Amino acid sequence: MKHLKSILLVAVALLVTVGLSAKPKIRIIATGGTIAGISTTSASSAYTAGQVGIQTLLDAVPQILNLADISGEQLVNIGSQDMNDEVWLKLAKRVNELLNKEGYDGVVITHGTDTMEETAYFLNLTVKSDKPVILAGSMRPSNAISADGPANLYNAVAAAVSPKCRGIGVLCCMNNQLLDAKTVIKTHTIDCDTFEGGPSGIIGYIYNGEAHILQTPNNKHTKESVFDVSKLEKLPKVGIVYGYANASALPMQAFVDAKFDGIVLAGVGDGNFYKDVFEVAVKAQNKGIQIVRSSRCPTGPTCLNSEVDDEKYHFVAALNLNPQKARVLLMLALTKTHDWKEIQEFFLEY
Ligand code: GLU
Repeated sequence: MKHLKSILLVAVALLVTVGLSAKPKIRIIATGGTIAGISTTSASSAYTAGQVGIQTLLDAVPQILNLADISGEQLVNIGSQDMNDEVWLKLAKRVNELLNKEGYDGVVITHGTDTMEETAYFLNLTVKSDKPVILAGSMRPSNAISADGPANLYNAVAAAVSPKCRGIGVLCCMNNQLLDAKTVIKTHTIDCDTFEGGPSGIIGYIYNGEAHILQTPNNKHTKESVFDVSKLEKLPKVGIVYGYANASALPMQAFVDAKFDGIVLAGVGDGNFYKDVFEVAVKAQNKGIQIVRSSRCPTGPTCLNSEVDDEKYHFVAALNLNPQKARVLLMLALTKTHDWKEIQEFFLEY
């Protein structure tokens, strides 16, 4: 009996030690981008995104093995200018599987920076978990002098293992900063310091491998989101029309003729249309193609019923979403309803 007791004690002690020393299980999903890009020479600006595979990315930053039990998979290997609805659906489904069925504690996604903000927002609305989901990329290719990819990947893993990054939605981790999916925007074509968090600023930062959170998003996301892509094979078709002086109505008309489900206006000022474009937009809305007004201005909301009477025309105001993110929300909204008031409500909540 005494013998059995000691064996049991040893077994419990072993389990506690293993349990305490077990590192969080983090999965890295690689999708390409400059972080996986190769330039012609280490000092050149000419390069091709999405060239090296996930193992090369991991080999460049072995220090992440101190932070987490790391494994990885390659979903696609593309420049993020080629990101599309099909990859988004695949990615969202895979992240949900990893976090909800396969027991991972967090997911890091390596991604090109061009459309990172759109993918982050799409996942923010379709991942059903409180666990950290962090996107990281780089502005310099993997073989450039002072490549920023390894540090961004290390910081992203540091965020993914941090309990502080749970329950605050999908984040982007670039240039030591943490940015939330709704407000993050790429602001500079070539600088490493390209991402900004909009008027409210960054969500936090990583210092010495530790996440520090300064504020939390106040919009609904992840587990609170009503959008469910688990059974979807495709998304509604939504296009964006850019506003400018003397604008042609042809792009808006082309989307109507191609039977798109929705159109987002990147309008001038507070989401205003050129008169010819407005005429086509009213006809489109009457045919059931949902028009959402956003703005080409980099800051400030597109307000409901301002210079345009949205109530009268049944247009939706994008509020704080830029055109590319308004497109993401409109696509998901159209999987639920075609009622413009309900869609406007989504724009208030998400
Ligand atoms: N076009 C590339 C991409 O988005 C380059 C931008 C980057 O990754 O930094 O994948």
